Amino acid sequence: NLNGKTALVTGSTSGIGLGIARVLAKAGAQLILNGFGDSESAREEIAQLGKKPGYHDADLRDVLQIEAMMRYAESQFGGVDILVNNAGIQHVAPVDAFPVEIWNDIIAINLSSVFHTSRLALPAMREKNWGRIINIASVHGLVASKEKSAYVAAKHGVVGFTKSLALETARTGITANTICPGWVLTPLVQQQIDKRIADGVPPEQAREQLLAEKQPSGEFVTPEQLGELALFLCSEGAVNVRGVAWNMDGGWVAQ
Ligand code: NAD
Repeated sequence: NLNGKTALVTGSTSGIGLGIARVLAKAGAQLILNGFGDSESAREEIAQLGKKPGYHDADLRDVLQIEAMMRYAESQFGGVDILVNNAGIQHVAPVDAFPVEIWNDIIAINLSSVFHTSRLALPAMREKNWGRIINIASVHGLVASKEKSAYVAAKHGVVGFTKSLALETARTGITANTICPGWVLTPLVQQQIDKRIADGVPPEQAREQLLAEKQPSGEFVTPEQLGELALFLCSEGAVNVRGVAWNMDGGWVAQ
C-alpha cells in the first residue's frame, strides 16, 4: 500500500511511464507526471484512479528545468518518495552516420537526467530514511544491438549508475534498482516497426519479425506488467533488493 507516498514518474504521458503511473496510483500513491504530448488525458486518467496528480513539463535535456521540476515536487508535495526515471528516446543509425545532436539528446535524457533527478531527490529521502529509486533501462542496458549505439551506451550507463547509487544508500531505507524491459509495444517501438514497413516489409510481418529476432516469448511485455514489478520494488519485502538490473523481457537475455 502506497498511501502517503509521492511518486514522480518521468515520461509518464505515454507508454511504459503511464503504465507504471497507473499501477502506483491504484496502489494509493500520489503521482507527479512529466512528459510531452497529450498530458491532459494522462492526468485525467490518473485522477480517475483516486488522487489528482501533479504535473511538470520539464524537458529533461535541460538541467535547469529538471531542477525546477524537483523544486515543484518539494514545494507542492513535500518531496519525492518514489522516483521512477522512465523518460527515454531511441534513434536507430550506424555509428558513422549517427547524428551528433541526437547522440547528445539520448545521453542527456536517457542517462544524465537519471543522475540529476536522483541527486535532487536524495536529500529528502535521506531525511525520511525511506525511498525507492527505480530506473527504467532496457535489455540494452545488458546486451547490445547494432545501430543503437547511443541508446545502448546510455542504458548500460544507467545500470552502472544505479549500482553505484545502491552502494551509497546500502545502509539506509532507500533502495535503487534498474528494470530492463524487452520489447513493449509503445510509440518508441512502433517507430521501429514503421521503419521496417518503410523499408518494404509487409505490415503484418513487421511486428512479428521484430519480436521473432529477439524475444523468445513471441509476445510484447506490457506497461502494466512492468508496473507490477515496480510496485514490488516499492514494497517493504523488496528492501534488500539493491542495485539489481532486473530484466522482464520474454527471455531475450537468456539466449
Ligand atoms: P514512449 O515514447 O511511449 O514514452 C516516452 C516518454 O518520455 C513520453 O512520455 C515522452 O513525452 C517522454 N519524453 C521524451 N523526451 C522527453 C524529454 N526530453 N523530457 C521529458 N520527457 C520526455 O516510450 P516508452 O517505450 O514508453 O519508453 C519509456 C522508457 O522505457 C524509455 O526509457 C525506454 O528507453 C524504455 N524502454 C522501452 C522499451 C520498449 O520496448 N518500448 C524497451 C525497453 C526500454
